[in-house]
Amino acid sequence: ISAVELTREILKRIEQVEDKVKAFVTLTPEKALEQAKAVDEARARGESLSVLAGIPMALKDNLCTEGIRTTCSSKMLENWVPPYDAFVVRKLREAGAILVGKCNMDEFAMGSSTENSRFFPTRNPWDLDRVPGGSSGGSAAAVAAGEAFFALGSDTGGSIRQPASFCGVVGLKPTYGRVSRYGLVAFASSLDQIGPLTRDVTDCALVLQAIAGHDPLDSTSADLPVPDYLAALRQDVRGLKIGVPREYFGPGMDREVVSVVRQAIDRLSDLGAFCEETSLPHTEYALPAYYLVAPAEASSNLARYDGVAYGFRLPGKDVVDMYMKTRREGFGPEVKRRIMLGTYALSAGYYDAYYLKALKVRSLIRRDFDQAFEKYDVLVTPTSPTVAFRLGERVGDPLAMYMSDLCTIPVNMAGLPAISIPCGFAQGLPVGLQIIAKPFDEEILFRVAYTFE
Ligand code: GLN
Repeated sequence: ISAVELTREILKRIEQVEDKVKAFVTLTPEKALEQAKAVDEARARGESLSVLAGIPMALKDNLCTEGIRTTCSSKMLENWVPPYDAFVVRKLREAGAILVGKCNMDEFAMGSSTENSRFFPTRNPWDLDRVPGGSSGGSAAAVAAGEAFFALGSDTGGSIRQPASFCGVVGLKPTYGRVSRYGLVAFASSLDQIGPLTRDVTDCALVLQAIAGHDPLDSTSADLPVPDYLAALRQDVRGLKIGVPREYFGPGMDREVVSVVRQAIDRLSDLGAFCEETSLPHTEYALPAYYLVAPAEASSNLARYDGVAYGFRLPGKDVVDMYMKTRREGFGPEVKRRIMLGTYALSAGYYDAYYLKALKVRSLIRRDFDQAFEKYDVLVTPTSPTVAFRLGERVGDPLAMYMSDLCTIPVNMAGLPAISIPCGFAQGLPVGLQIIAKPFDEEILFRVAYTFE
Protein backbone atom coordinates (compact mmCIF):
# COMPACT_ATOMS: atom_id res chain seq x y z
CA ILE A 1 0.00 0.00 0.00
CA SER A 2 1.34 3.43 -0.87
CA ALA A 3 1.59 6.33 1.57
CA VAL A 4 -1.09 8.18 -0.40
CA GLU A 5 -3.46 5.19 -0.22
CA LEU A 6 -2.86 4.76 3.50
CA THR A 7 -3.42 8.45 4.14
CA ARG A 8 -6.65 8.38 2.11
CA GLU A 9 -7.87 5.44 4.19
CA ILE A 10 -7.17 7.32 7.41
CA LEU A 11 -8.88 10.46 6.11
CA LYS A 12 -11.89 8.34 5.21
CA ARG A 13 -11.93 6.88 8.70
CA ILE A 14 -11.73 10.37 10.20
CA GLU A 15 -14.69 11.42 8.08
CA GLN A 16 -16.68 8.45 9.38
CA VAL A 17 -16.06 8.82 13.10
CA GLU A 18 -14.83 12.34 13.85
CA ASP A 19 -18.35 13.78 14.20
CA LYS A 20 -18.87 11.51 17.18
CA VAL A 21 -15.40 11.42 18.75
CA LYS A 22 -14.22 15.01 18.12
CA ALA A 23 -10.57 14.23 18.71
CA PHE A 24 -9.20 17.01 16.47
CA VAL A 25 -9.06 20.77 16.76
CA THR A 26 -7.51 21.16 13.30
CA LEU A 27 -7.40 18.72 10.39
CA THR A 28 -4.76 19.00 7.67
CA PRO A 29 -5.92 16.65 4.88
CA GLU A 30 -4.40 18.52 1.92
CA LYS A 31 -1.01 18.90 3.56
CA ALA A 32 -1.16 15.23 4.59
CA LEU A 33 -1.77 14.05 1.04
CA GLU A 34 0.99 16.28 -0.27
CA GLN A 35 3.40 14.85 2.29
CA ALA A 36 2.31 11.31 1.47
CA LYS A 37 2.93 11.93 -2.20
CA ALA A 38 6.45 13.11 -1.43
CA VAL A 39 7.09 9.91 0.54
CA ASP A 40 5.85 7.75 -2.35
CA GLU A 41 8.09 9.67 -4.75
CA ALA A 42 11.10 9.21 -2.49
CA ARG A 43 10.35 5.49 -2.31
CA ALA A 44 10.06 5.31 -6.09
CA ARG A 45 13.48 6.94 -6.38
CA GLY A 46 14.81 4.10 -4.23
CA GLU A 47 15.65 6.24 -1.22
CA SER A 48 15.97 4.33 2.02
CA LEU A 49 13.16 5.42 4.32
CA SER A 50 12.45 5.25 8.03
CA VAL A 51 9.88 2.74 9.34
CA LEU A 52 7.60 5.68 10.08
CA ALA A 53 7.68 6.99 6.52
CA GLY A 54 4.15 7.29 5.15
CA ILE A 55 2.48 6.55 8.50
CA PRO A 56 -0.39 8.94 9.40
CA MET A 57 -0.03 10.52 12.83
CA ALA A 58 -1.71 13.11 15.05
CA LEU A 59 -0.18 15.66 17.42
CA LYS A 60 -1.44 17.21 20.62
CA ASP A 61 -2.20 20.84 19.95
CA ASN A 62 0.48 22.15 22.31
CA LEU A 63 3.27 21.01 19.97
CA CYS A 64 4.37 23.78 17.65
CA THR A 65 3.84 23.10 13.96
CA GLU A 66 5.21 25.51 11.41
CA GLY A 67 2.39 27.04 9.37
CA ILE A 68 -0.35 25.12 11.23
CA ARG A 69 -2.14 26.79 14.11
CA THR A 70 -1.25 25.56 17.59
CA THR A 71 -4.04 26.48 19.98
CA CYS A 72 -3.49 24.57 23.26
CA SER A 73 -7.30 24.39 23.02
CA SER A 74 -7.31 27.93 24.38
CA LYS A 75 -8.98 31.06 23.13
CA MET A 76 -5.68 32.76 23.88
CA LEU A 77 -3.95 30.91 21.03
CA GLU A 78 -6.97 30.16 18.85
CA ASN A 79 -5.40 31.74 15.77
CA TRP A 80 -1.72 31.48 16.63
CA VAL A 81 0.40 29.99 13.85
CA PRO A 82 3.93 29.10 15.00
CA PRO A 83 6.82 30.04 12.72
CA TYR A 84 8.71 26.85 13.61
CA ASP A 85 8.35 23.12 14.35
CA ALA A 86 8.91 21.58 17.78
CA PHE A 87 11.99 19.32 17.91
CA VAL A 88 9.80 16.20 17.97
CA VAL A 89 7.70 17.46 15.07
CA ARG A 90 10.81 18.07 13.01
CA LYS A 91 12.11 14.58 13.84
CA LEU A 92 8.86 12.94 12.79
CA ARG A 93 8.59 14.99 9.61
CA GLU A 94 12.16 14.01 8.73
CA ALA A 95 11.20 10.38 9.32
CA GLY A 96 8.37 10.86 6.80
CA ALA A 97 5.42 10.47 9.19
CA ILE A 98 2.28 12.14 7.84
CA LEU A 99 0.54 14.73 10.00
CA VAL A 100 -3.25 14.44 9.64
CA GLY A 101 -4.22 16.89 12.37
CA LYS A 102 -3.81 18.54 15.75
CA CYS A 103 -5.61 17.02 18.70
CA ASN A 104 -7.95 18.49 21.27
CA MET A 105 -6.72 18.78 24.87
CA ASP A 106 -7.53 20.40 28.17
CA GLU A 107 -6.69 24.09 27.91
CA PHE A 108 -2.90 24.46 28.30
CA ALA A 109 -2.84 20.77 29.38
CA MET A 110 -4.63 21.49 32.65
CA GLY A 111 -7.14 18.78 33.33
CA SER A 112 -7.89 15.07 33.21
CA SER A 113 -10.91 14.79 30.92
CA THR A 114 -10.43 17.12 27.91
CA GLU A 115 -13.56 18.93 29.11
CA ASN A 116 -11.40 22.00 29.88
CA SER A 117 -10.89 22.55 26.14
CA ARG A 118 -12.28 25.98 25.23
CA PHE A 119 -13.64 24.50 21.99
CA PHE A 120 -15.54 21.26 22.75
CA PRO A 121 -15.03 18.07 24.76
CA THR A 122 -13.64 14.94 23.10
CA ARG A 123 -15.49 11.69 23.66
CA ASN A 124 -14.21 8.25 24.59
CA PRO A 125 -14.49 5.95 21.55
CA TRP A 126 -15.40 3.02 23.84
CA ASP A 127 -18.43 4.86 25.20
CA LEU A 128 -19.33 8.23 23.74
CA ASP A 129 -20.95 9.36 27.01
CA ARG A 130 -17.61 9.07 28.77
CA VAL A 131 -14.48 11.21 28.77
CA PRO A 132 -11.30 10.06 27.00
CA GLY A 133 -9.23 11.28 29.95
CA GLY A 134 -6.85 14.19 29.71
CA SER A 135 -5.15 16.33 29.07
CA SER A 136 -4.00 14.44 25.92
CA GLY A 137 -7.56 13.13 25.46
CA GLY A 138 -7.74 14.05 21.78
CA SER A 139 -4.51 12.18 21.04
CA ALA A 140 -5.65 9.05 22.91
CA ALA A 141 -9.12 9.11 21.34
CA ALA A 142 -7.68 9.60 17.83
CA VAL A 143 -5.51 6.49 18.22
CA ALA A 144 -8.27 4.44 19.86
CA ALA A 145 -10.78 5.38 17.15
CA GLY A 146 -8.37 4.53 14.32
CA GLU A 147 -8.05 8.15 13.19
CA ALA A 148 -4.24 7.97 13.32
CA PHE A 149 -1.71 5.18 13.71
CA PHE A 150 -0.02 7.00 16.53
CA ALA A 151 -0.09 10.34 18.30
CA LEU A 152 2.10 12.43 20.52
CA GLY A 153 0.93 13.84 23.81
CA SER A 154 2.51 15.63 26.75
CA ASP A 155 2.56 14.43 30.33
CA THR A 156 3.02 16.83 33.24
CA GLY A 157 1.07 14.88 35.84
CA GLY A 158 -0.33 11.93 33.92
CA SER A 159 -1.68 13.49 30.75
CA ILE A 160 -0.37 10.77 28.44
CA ARG A 161 -0.83 7.74 30.68
CA GLN A 162 -4.28 8.47 32.12
CA PRO A 163 -5.97 9.05 28.72
CA ALA A 164 -4.11 6.01 27.33
CA SER A 165 -5.59 3.99 30.17
CA PHE A 166 -9.12 5.38 29.63
CA CYS A 167 -8.99 4.75 25.87
CA GLY A 168 -7.31 1.32 25.94
CA VAL A 169 -4.11 2.36 24.15
CA VAL A 170 -0.41 2.40 25.07
CA GLY A 171 0.99 5.65 26.47
CA LEU A 172 4.54 6.42 27.53
CA LYS A 173 5.96 9.26 29.58
CA PRO A 174 9.71 9.16 28.97
CA THR A 175 12.29 10.12 31.60
CA TYR A 176 12.49 13.88 32.13
CA GLY A 177 15.18 14.96 29.66
CA ARG A 178 14.88 11.97 27.31
CA VAL A 179 12.85 13.92 24.74
CA SER A 180 13.43 17.58 23.91
CA ARG A 181 10.70 19.98 25.01
CA TYR A 182 11.75 22.57 22.42
CA GLY A 183 8.54 23.77 20.81
CA LEU A 184 6.24 22.27 23.43
CA VAL A 185 4.11 25.07 24.86
CA ALA A 186 5.24 25.09 28.49
CA PHE A 187 2.87 24.26 31.35
CA ALA A 188 5.15 23.24 34.25
CA SER A 189 8.65 23.08 32.82
CA SER A 190 10.21 20.87 35.50
CA LEU A 191 7.53 18.21 34.96
CA ASP A 192 6.52 18.34 31.26
CA GLN A 193 7.61 15.53 28.92
CA ILE A 194 6.46 14.60 25.42
CA GLY A 195 5.67 10.99 24.61
CA PRO A 196 3.88 8.58 22.27
CA LEU A 197 0.32 7.20 22.35
CA THR A 198 0.13 4.07 20.22
CA ARG A 199 -1.88 0.95 19.48
CA ASP A 200 0.77 -1.42 20.79
CA VAL A 201 4.12 -1.59 22.54
CA THR A 202 6.17 -2.12 19.38
CA ASP A 203 4.81 1.09 17.86
CA CYS A 204 5.55 2.87 21.12
CA ALA A 205 9.19 1.77 20.95
CA LEU A 206 9.44 2.85 17.30
CA VAL A 207 8.01 6.30 17.97
CA LEU A 208 10.20 6.89 21.03
CA GLN A 209 13.20 5.86 18.92
CA ALA A 210 12.30 8.60 16.45
CA ILE A 211 11.80 11.42 18.96
CA ALA A 212 14.36 10.69 21.70
CA GLY A 213 17.79 12.22 21.84
CA HIS A 214 19.80 15.26 22.75
CA ASP A 215 18.77 18.73 21.61
CA PRO A 216 20.97 21.72 22.43
CA LEU A 217 17.88 23.94 22.17
CA ASP A 218 16.42 22.40 25.35
CA SER A 219 18.83 22.95 28.24
CA THR A 220 17.23 20.10 30.21
CA SER A 221 17.57 17.61 27.37
CA ALA A 222 19.93 14.78 28.33
CA ASP A 223 23.09 14.26 26.32
CA LEU A 224 22.97 10.48 26.46
CA PRO A 225 23.03 7.85 23.72
CA VAL A 226 19.62 6.51 22.67
CA PRO A 227 19.45 2.72 22.97
CA ASP A 228 17.86 0.37 20.45
CA TYR A 229 14.36 0.13 21.93
CA LEU A 230 13.18 -2.63 19.60
CA ALA A 231 15.93 -4.91 20.91
CA ALA A 232 14.36 -4.63 24.38
CA LEU A 233 11.23 -6.36 23.08
CA ARG A 234 13.15 -9.56 22.44
CA GLN A 235 13.81 -10.21 26.13
CA ASP A 236 11.33 -11.81 28.55
CA VAL A 237 10.56 -11.00 32.20
CA ARG A 238 12.05 -14.11 33.78
CA GLY A 239 14.04 -13.24 36.88
CA LEU A 240 13.00 -9.58 36.97
CA LYS A 241 12.28 -8.12 40.39
CA ILE A 242 8.98 -6.27 40.41
CA GLY A 243 7.80 -4.10 43.29
CA VAL A 244 4.09 -3.57 43.97
CA PRO A 245 3.72 -0.42 46.10
CA ARG A 246 0.79 -0.92 48.44
CA GLU A 247 -0.10 2.79 48.53
CA TYR A 248 -1.47 2.45 44.99
CA PHE A 249 -3.99 -0.24 45.92
CA GLY A 250 -5.68 1.32 48.93
CA PRO A 251 -8.39 3.90 49.58
CA GLY A 252 -9.61 5.92 46.62
CA MET A 253 -9.00 3.05 44.22
CA ASP A 254 -11.88 1.34 42.45
CA ARG A 255 -12.08 -2.27 43.58
CA GLU A 256 -12.64 -3.73 40.13
CA VAL A 257 -9.72 -1.77 38.69
CA VAL A 258 -7.47 -3.07 41.47
CA SER A 259 -8.55 -6.63 40.83
CA VAL A 260 -7.85 -6.42 37.09
CA VAL A 261 -4.40 -4.97 37.82
CA ARG A 262 -3.71 -7.71 40.35
CA GLN A 263 -4.49 -10.31 37.70
CA ALA A 264 -1.95 -8.65 35.41
CA ILE A 265 0.63 -8.84 38.19
CA ASP A 266 -0.16 -12.55 38.67
CA ARG A 267 0.50 -13.01 35.01
CA LEU A 268 3.97 -11.48 35.42
CA SER A 269 4.65 -13.92 38.27
CA ASP A 270 3.48 -16.82 36.10
CA LEU A 271 5.96 -15.74 33.45
CA GLY A 272 8.80 -15.98 35.93
CA ALA A 273 9.07 -12.47 37.36
CA PHE A 274 9.50 -12.10 41.08
CA CYS A 275 6.69 -9.81 42.35
CA GLU A 276 6.63 -8.51 45.89
CA GLU A 277 4.67 -5.91 47.85
CA THR A 278 6.63 -2.82 48.79
CA SER A 279 5.99 0.68 50.08
CA LEU A 280 6.55 4.23 48.86
CA PRO A 281 5.61 5.96 52.10
CA HIS A 282 5.36 9.55 50.81
CA THR A 283 2.93 8.75 48.01
CA GLU A 284 0.00 10.50 49.65
CA TYR A 285 1.85 13.84 49.59
CA ALA A 286 2.59 13.76 45.87
CA LEU A 287 -0.78 15.13 44.73
CA PRO A 288 -0.89 18.12 47.11
CA ALA A 289 2.77 18.95 46.39
CA TYR A 290 2.11 18.71 42.63
CA TYR A 291 -0.75 21.17 42.93
CA LEU A 292 1.68 23.72 44.33
CA VAL A 293 4.66 23.07 42.05
CA ALA A 294 2.68 22.77 38.79
CA PRO A 295 0.52 25.89 39.26
CA ALA A 296 3.57 27.87 40.47
CA GLU A 297 5.44 27.08 37.28
CA ALA A 298 2.31 27.58 35.19
CA SER A 299 1.67 31.02 36.63
CA SER A 300 5.13 32.02 35.55
CA ASN A 301 5.00 30.32 32.12
CA LEU A 302 1.59 31.80 31.29
CA ALA A 303 2.63 35.37 32.11
CA ARG A 304 3.72 35.74 28.47
CA TYR A 305 0.11 35.71 27.19
CA ASP A 306 -0.57 39.39 27.63
CA GLY A 307 -2.16 40.24 24.31
CA VAL A 308 1.07 41.64 22.89
CA ALA A 309 3.19 38.81 21.53
CA TYR A 310 0.68 36.05 20.81
CA GLY A 311 -2.69 35.72 19.09
CA PHE A 312 -5.63 36.94 21.09
CA ARG A 313 -6.09 40.57 22.19
CA LEU A 314 -9.05 42.52 23.52
CA PRO A 315 -8.58 46.28 23.22
CA GLY A 316 -8.55 48.33 26.45
CA LYS A 317 -8.38 51.96 27.39
CA ASP A 318 -4.69 51.64 28.28
CA VAL A 319 -2.14 48.84 28.21
CA VAL A 320 -2.92 47.48 31.69
CA ASP A 321 -6.61 47.44 30.88
CA MET A 322 -5.79 45.61 27.63
CA TYR A 323 -3.77 42.97 29.56
CA MET A 324 -6.59 42.43 32.00
CA LYS A 325 -9.36 42.17 29.43
CA THR A 326 -7.26 39.89 27.22
CA ARG A 327 -6.39 37.50 30.04
CA ARG A 328 -9.89 37.55 31.55
CA GLU A 329 -11.42 36.50 28.25
CA GLY A 330 -8.51 34.51 26.78
CA PHE A 331 -8.14 32.01 29.64
CA GLY A 332 -10.79 29.59 30.89
CA PRO A 333 -11.68 28.94 34.55
CA GLU A 334 -9.21 26.10 35.25
CA VAL A 335 -6.29 28.05 33.82
CA LYS A 336 -7.22 31.07 35.93
CA ARG A 337 -7.51 28.87 39.01
CA ARG A 338 -3.97 27.58 38.43
CA ILE A 339 -2.56 31.07 37.83
CA MET A 340 -4.10 32.30 41.07
CA LEU A 341 -2.92 29.27 43.07
CA GLY A 342 0.58 29.53 41.62
CA THR A 343 0.91 33.26 42.10
CA TYR A 344 -0.21 32.86 45.70
CA ALA A 345 2.22 30.02 46.39
CA LEU A 346 5.11 32.05 44.99
CA SER A 347 4.29 35.34 46.70
CA ALA A 348 6.52 36.86 49.38
CA GLY A 349 5.59 35.56 52.82
CA TYR A 350 4.01 32.35 51.46
CA TYR A 351 6.87 31.10 49.32
CA ASP A 352 8.58 29.19 52.17
CA ALA A 353 5.38 27.79 53.58
CA TYR A 354 4.03 26.48 50.26
CA TYR A 355 6.39 26.40 47.32
CA LEU A 356 9.59 25.58 49.19
CA LYS A 357 7.76 23.01 51.31
CA ALA A 358 6.41 21.38 48.15
CA LEU A 359 9.94 21.15 46.74
CA LYS A 360 11.08 19.38 49.91
CA VAL A 361 8.22 16.94 49.63
CA ARG A 362 9.23 16.38 46.03
CA SER A 363 12.70 15.30 47.21
CA LEU A 364 11.15 12.82 49.63
CA ILE A 365 9.05 11.33 46.87
CA ARG A 366 12.10 10.95 44.67
CA ARG A 367 13.98 9.32 47.55
CA ASP A 368 11.17 6.76 48.02
CA PHE A 369 11.61 5.75 44.40
CA ASP A 370 15.42 5.72 44.59
CA GLN A 371 15.24 3.33 47.52
CA ALA A 372 12.70 1.10 45.79
CA PHE A 373 14.90 0.88 42.70
CA GLU A 374 17.80 -0.38 44.78
CA LYS A 375 15.69 -3.51 45.17
CA TYR A 376 13.41 -3.68 42.15
CA ASP A 377 13.82 -3.42 38.37
CA VAL A 378 10.36 -1.94 37.91
CA LEU A 379 7.31 -0.98 39.95
CA VAL A 380 3.77 -1.74 38.82
CA THR A 381 0.54 0.04 39.77
CA PRO A 382 -2.85 0.88 38.29
CA THR A 383 -2.58 3.90 35.93
CA SER A 384 -5.74 5.55 37.22
CA PRO A 385 -7.97 4.89 40.24
CA THR A 386 -11.05 4.36 38.03
CA VAL A 387 -12.08 3.61 34.48
CA ALA A 388 -13.26 6.47 32.23
CA PHE A 389 -15.92 8.52 33.99
CA ARG A 390 -18.99 10.17 32.45
CA LEU A 391 -18.85 13.53 30.74
CA GLY A 392 -19.85 16.25 33.18
CA GLU A 393 -19.38 14.01 36.22
CA ARG A 394 -16.39 15.88 37.62
CA VAL A 395 -16.43 19.28 35.92
CA GLY A 396 -17.95 21.00 38.92
CA ASP A 397 -15.52 19.44 41.37
CA PRO A 398 -11.86 20.27 40.64
CA LEU A 399 -10.60 18.09 43.50
CA ALA A 400 -12.42 15.03 42.19
CA MET A 401 -10.89 15.78 38.79
CA TYR A 402 -7.39 16.09 40.32
CA MET A 403 -7.81 12.66 41.95
CA SER A 404 -7.72 10.87 38.61
CA ASP A 405 -3.97 11.50 38.51
CA LEU A 406 -3.30 10.05 41.92
CA CYS A 407 -1.17 7.22 40.48
CA THR A 408 0.58 9.11 37.70
CA ILE A 409 1.67 12.34 39.42
CA PRO A 410 4.38 10.84 41.71
CA VAL A 411 6.23 9.68 38.58
CA ASN A 412 6.43 13.22 37.19
CA MET A 413 7.51 14.59 40.56
CA ALA A 414 10.44 12.14 40.46
CA GLY A 415 11.19 12.63 36.73
CA LEU A 416 10.88 8.89 36.01
CA PRO A 417 9.77 7.02 32.90
CA ALA A 418 6.47 5.13 33.02
CA ILE A 419 4.23 3.38 30.54
CA SER A 420 0.53 2.60 30.64
CA ILE A 421 -0.66 -0.48 28.79
CA PRO A 422 -4.15 -1.95 28.52
CA CYS A 423 -4.44 -4.95 30.87
CA GLY A 424 -8.13 -5.81 30.90
CA PHE A 425 -11.60 -4.40 31.42
CA ALA A 426 -13.75 -3.27 34.32
CA GLN A 427 -17.39 -2.33 33.77
CA GLY A 428 -16.75 -3.00 30.09
CA LEU A 429 -14.13 -0.24 29.91
CA PRO A 430 -10.34 -0.48 29.49
CA VAL A 431 -8.06 -0.62 32.53
CA GLY A 432 -4.43 0.51 32.37
CA LEU A 433 -1.41 -1.05 34.05
CA GLN A 434 1.34 1.43 34.88
CA ILE A 435 4.95 0.25 34.84
CA ILE A 436 7.57 2.59 36.34
CA ALA A 437 11.35 2.37 35.93
CA LYS A 438 14.46 4.23 36.98
CA PRO A 439 15.63 7.23 34.99
CA PHE A 440 16.56 6.48 31.35
CA ASP A 441 15.54 2.82 31.59
CA GLU A 442 12.69 2.97 29.08
CA GLU A 443 14.00 -0.32 27.69
CA ILE A 444 12.85 -2.27 30.69
CA LEU A 445 9.39 -0.72 30.40
CA PHE A 446 9.11 -2.02 26.85
CA ARG A 447 10.45 -5.39 27.92
CA VAL A 448 7.82 -5.83 30.64
CA ALA A 449 5.00 -4.23 28.63
CA TYR A 450 5.66 -6.45 25.63
CA THR A 451 4.87 -9.61 27.60
CA PHE A 452 1.22 -8.51 27.57
CA GLU A 453 0.98 -8.50 23.76
N1 GLN B 1 -4.39 16.40 35.46
C1 GLN B 1 -3.13 17.01 35.73
C2 GLN B 1 -3.28 18.51 35.73
O1 GLN B 1 -4.34 18.95 35.46
C3 GLN B 1 -2.13 16.56 34.70
C4 GLN B 1 -1.97 17.45 33.56
C5 GLN B 1 -0.87 17.04 32.60
O2 GLN B 1 -0.20 16.03 32.77
N2 GLN B 1 -0.66 17.87 31.61
O3 GLN B 1 -2.38 19.22 36.04
